[in-house]
Amino acid sequence: MNEIKIFSPATVANVACGFDVLGFCLDSVGDEMVIRKIDKKGIFIAHIEGFDLPYETKKNVAGVSALAMYETLDVDFGFEIEIYKNIKPGSGIGSSAASAVGSVFGMNELLGRPFNKTQLTEFAIKGEALASKCEHADNLAPALFGGFTLVKSVSPLKILEIPCPDDLYATIIHPQIEIKTSEARAVLPKDVPLNDAITQWSNLGSLVHGLHTNDYDLIKDSLQDVIIEPHRSKLIPYYNEVKNEVLAAGALGACISGSGPSIFTLNKGLETSKKVANAMKKVYQNTNIEFDIHISKINTQGIKII
Ligand code: ADP
Repeated sequence: MNEIKIFSPATVANVACGFDVLGFCLDSVGDEMVIRKIDKKGIFIAHIEGFDLPYETKKNVAGVSALAMYETLDVDFGFEIEIYKNIKPGSGIGSSAASAVGSVFGMNELLGRPFNKTQLTEFAIKGEALASKCEHADNLAPALFGGFTLVKSVSPLKILEIPCPDDLYATIIHPQIEIKTSEARAVLPKDVPLNDAITQWSNLGSLVHGLHTNDYDLIKDSLQDVIIEPHRSKLIPYYNEVKNEVLAAGALGACISGSGPSIFTLNKGLETSKKVANAMKKVYQNTNIEFDIHISKINTQGIKII
């Protein structure tokens, strides 16, 4: 096999109370990529469609993660990467992560799977660092492993796979506004009051327990963020309106996806997810901001060959 086509999914990081550690994988939104073995040594970005992204290997996250893996190999051939991008860069649903994992997943398949998923995440972290200027894996891990993941530590990298109920869905609205990652970071507090920290880790623990035990009431009760949301939500127009409407429509909880501007909800069942999508639409259709809405079952498989 000299060529492989893959689907690299969008992901939601942070998940309310799990800032920088928790994430989950979507199945209805993602990029396609083709990875090809070529005679010429090196890593080359051969084609990009969808959005304007750099072709220079060291400036594209897919190229940087691919190089991180390639440098550990002793081979007399190279790889070519094609990116068909559907996830808008900067939307907060893991656009850069999808590219970072796509190249290394595809190369690993063509090489006969010498690396496990944690090792692939290590390579992908190098690519993700190009986009976000720091090494983190909260979008990469769910894209590679599927389902919900918790990044227990980055150094050494330890990823925990967390089960979830069968009927769990996400609804996501992506308002087409730009929030600079630097801006989203600058609004965060340097210190956290102890009482807020206690609330946050109690919610994270109980959310993980609720996911393990299929306890929708506990999941609902735990989807709260008292540390990040109060600061970052101010950057997203109509955030509070959307949140009030989706909760009234039956969402288990709602919060900022990654560093925004996308807002996600978790819901029980497809019917509720559609009602939640309508509630989001109701708020945004009266504004002059363009938006996309996605409904997705939690994707327990993650990145895959197509
Ligand atoms: P997201 O949270 O949606 O991944 P980021 O702000 O983290 O968005 O990453 C997007 C940034 O990474 C943009 O500046 C974009 O130009 C850069 N970038 C470089 N290569 C890629 C790629 N293959 N896919 C997406 N973004 C890329």
